[in-house]
Amino acid sequence: MAAPTITNIPSRKAYDVVIVGGAMYGSSIAWFLSANPDFDGSILVVERDPTYEFTSTSHTNSCIRQQFSNEINVRISQFGAEFIKNFQSYMGDDPRVPEITLQSFGYMYLADNEAFAGTLREAQKVQQTLGAGTRFMTADEIKQDYPFYQLDDIVGANHNLIDEGYFDGNTIFDWWRRSAREKGAEYITNEVVAMTMNRGGSAVETVTLKSGEVIAAGTVVNASGPRAVLTSRMLGIDLPIEPRKRYTFIFDAEQPLEQDLPLTIDPSGVHMRTEGKYYLAGCPPDEDPAVAYDDFIQDHSLWQEKVWPIIATRVPQFEAVKLINSWAGHYAFNTLDQNAIIGAHTKVKNFIFANGFSGHGFQQSPAMGRGISEWITYGEYRNLDFSPFGYERIETETPFLEKAVI
Ligand SMILES: Cc1cc2nc3c(=O)[nH]c(=O)nc-3n(C[C@H](O)[C@H](O)[C@H](O)COP(=O)(O)OP(=O)(O)OC[C@H]3O[C@@H](n4cnc5c(N)ncnc54)[C@H](O)[C@@H]3O)c2cc1C
Repeated sequence: MAAPTITNIPSRKAYDVVIVGGAMYGSSIAWFLSANPDFDGSILVVERDPTYEFTSTSHTNSCIRQQFSNEINVRISQFGAEFIKNFQSYMGDDPRVPEITLQSFGYMYLADNEAFAGTLREAQKVQQTLGAGTRFMTADEIKQDYPFYQLDDIVGANHNLIDEGYFDGNTIFDWWRRSAREKGAEYITNEVVAMTMNRGGSAVETVTLKSGEVIAAGTVVNASGPRAVLTSRMLGIDLPIEPRKRYTFIFDAEQPLEQDLPLTIDPSGVHMRTEGKYYLAGCPPDEDPAVAYDDFIQDHSLWQEKVWPIIATRVPQFEAVKLINSWAGHYAFNTLDQNAIIGAHTKVKNFIFANGFSGHGFQQSPAMGRGISEWITYGEYRNLDFSPFGYERIETETPFLEKAVI
């Protein structure tokens, strides 16, 4: 059956599930639902920008790591890696589906003081217990394996070469979207501008589209990325999520390294890694306020005054580099604890969050998409228990802190 074409007006007046936002999360959830034989409902995915130009998904650095401080985040990435490596099989061995690259050059978390080295050692124990390949390396051990670093100020690092590095997440996104549509999910170019609830305030009843249609919804999923607050406020629900700018720079080195550059997190907060034959560096701004939803202006002084001096100090071979591309993207930054907010609202039971992923949402999309689809289908999580990510903690302002945040 040919995939339905994208239209602006939905074909029906009512859907079992309406997903607000059709990027990585909207498409992950739509795909996991539509691929599950136990789910036989109708799905509408409403996406305001079919080019996805200004989404987090389009600006991502697309890396995955096992190095988290919370057990559940490690397990989420373990499933992420399994999904990436077995993508064809998860996609039903469809011969059109390509293999997905997972380039395991690892993350290298550098510590320049004993206190942070202690934190890394503790995290390494947690990760090792869960089967992750993280090892703590002294400066001498780092130098032996990666002689290009300048490590005079470095006490040690955590590094892991298994299932950690770059993955081709955009191909996963393309296929989730394509396959979900082929399995019957309807994607429309439109915008959700309002929602109504029932009298008791216990359920969303309808979503209103920019084009004027009012659509009845059995369940509504908020997958609207950095705009998550705008969506939830349509129901009077607040979320501690802000758009925060993150900068990415692609550069060429006159003398390229002879081996992969792990995703190196410098103590300054700048990170860098191999990017094909080039290199990628990224950082937050020094001041990190919430920005306007449409503010994607690049700050060119950051490269010249901050990023380049830091990377050239850490890797002296990067003294001679040429900037070849750069962009600013938005994190959906959870100001409470930089962790995801997942699952149903405490009172509006059919309003589901898929929000607040901050800088680690891409890698979490297989596990989170599966979990949210389980919740919608069965009313419970069947594989990983995502209750620590629930909205309850937002209401009680109880952070579920993740120490390993980039
Ligand atoms: C610079 C940068 C680097 C990153 N690096 C990594 C990384 O290395 N690893 C990692 O795991 N994660 C990374 N992330 C995070 C990751 O990219 C995001 O968590 C993920 O892409 C979020 O996907 P999303 O679908 O939730 O949001 P988005 O991609 O922003 O999608 C939200 C969608 O909702 C739509 N929408 C919003 N409101 C409405 C509405 N009212 N009606 C209809 N549509 C609506 C938007 O148009 C958009 O398409 C990075 C992010 C950035 C910005």
